[in-house]
Amino acid sequence: MQKQCPECGEKIVGRIDKKFCSDACRNSFNNRINKDSKNLIRNTNNRLRKNYRILEDLNPDKKTKTSRAKLIEKGFDFNYFTSIYTTKAATVYYFVYNQGYLPLEGDYYALVKRE
Ligand SMILES: [Zn+2]
Repeated sequence: MQKQCPECGEKIVGRIDKKFCSDACRNSFNNRINKDSKNLIRNTNNRLRKNYRILEDLNPDKKTKTSRAKLIEKGFDFNYFTSIYTTKAATVYYFVYNQGYLPLEGDYYALVKRE
């Protein structure tokens, strides 16, 4: 079967294990993959940092209560957290580093800071 270069679509001639038509195509392909994954990591870190700051702002005294609306208003993104902690009673806390939150009834959240 004729293989094609994943970068430019040219047919590949030469050794059977050759993946790209040229060094230039291999380099630009790999650079793009690396750049994308770096962007992904940077964007994720930014989201986590923002979430952390919001929790820190809302919870200056280690323990408080807030509403979902307030978190969302500040730009909190519930898809980003660093760990989950489940108590023996099966209560699930979500943590962004050492700032945690626990969903309560009625769209409220308990905020806790872990030392
Ligand atoms: Zn190529």
